[in-house]
Amino acid sequence: MNEKNQLVNKVCNLCGSESYSRYYEQKDHRFEKTPRDTFRMVKCGECGLIYLNPAPTKTYMKYFYPDTFYDFRAFPVPSRRKSIRDFLEIASPINLRSKLALKEKTDLVKRLHKHPGKLLDVGAAEGNFLLAMKKNGWDVLGVEISKSMADFASEKYGITYINDDLNNLSIRDFKTKDFDIITMWRSFVHMYDPKAALQLCNQILKPNGKIIIMSTNSDSVEEKLFRRTDPNLIDVPRHLYHVNPDIVKKYFEVTGFKFIKTFYFSLNITSRLTIITNSKLSRMRKKYWFDKLIWLSAANLSLLAGILFSLLLSIFKRSYVFTIIGMKQDTDLES
Ligand SMILES: [Zn+2]
Repeated sequence: MNEKNQLVNKVCNLCGSESYSRYYEQKDHRFEKTPRDTFRMVKCGECGLIYLNPAPTKTYMKYFYPDTFYDFRAFPVPSRRKSIRDFLEIASPINLRSKLALKEKTDLVKRLHKHPGKLLDVGAAEGNFLLAMKKNGWDVLGVEISKSMADFASEKYGITYINDDLNNLSIRDFKTKDFDIITMWRSFVHMYDPKAALQLCNQILKPNGKIIIMSTNSDSVEEKLFRRTDPNLIDVPRHLYHVNPDIVKKYFEVTGFKFIKTFYFSLNITSRLTIITNSKLSRMRKKYWFDKLIWLSAANLSLLAGILFSLLLSIFKRSYVFTIIGMKQDTDLES
């Protein structure tokens, strides 16, 4: 093993405790970069945070993010209604859902902050969300670790990006009390030091500024059913943490945020069931327009079933994903 390619022992990022118990072990079945390695998630004996321990060093971690990690995110398709087939493509549940999922994010921000303000998206990916906010009059900035994603967003959408890991940045890279809203759409558990990230976010938010964190839910029913087969749930070693709303609330307490609200339903990830059926349906023959019609009907049904399942689980706070809002408290931590 190369000197840099190391796994290191960690302490709890949330409370600093060294006591833990084993939670779950799994190989990197998504990219199989090191097929022999099994990664272990442990649960803190003090605060209950679930974290990868030992974890790859920051340098070694880069190895686990191949370029294909970023390719699965669909880039927007220009709408051209030339034929029935094109129309069916545009009206497909996948496109419809991604549009609604994007609208869900922009509507949430607009509800929290009535007038266009300044927004930072951490883990901004290809910038679809920031583009939508920019079109709504917002002043937007993205932080994104992937160079190809950052280049795409700045070249194609003209959005300013900082191409780095938020954990590598400090207050010197921003202005204090600058942002009205900071969003982390499923980037929280990928961060090496989420506590430091939240502390920095607190410093650069305006008074009463809000942070929105979306994450997969360690309390979800599907986590128990599908975690062995679904890389989105516990994607080791890229997921360094595995959280639920209570854990994020504890993070808020120690980083200067007041908890506002948790949402348990999202169109952004509805249900693993839909993902499974859609991947099967995607292999269907789609040569003729009626093939597409059959596929479209089946995919719509599967999406609808997934949404209903997800709605049911959200009543019991056991949904696949949750979104949590925190507000910067009046007392500044930086003093
Ligand atoms: Zn702890």
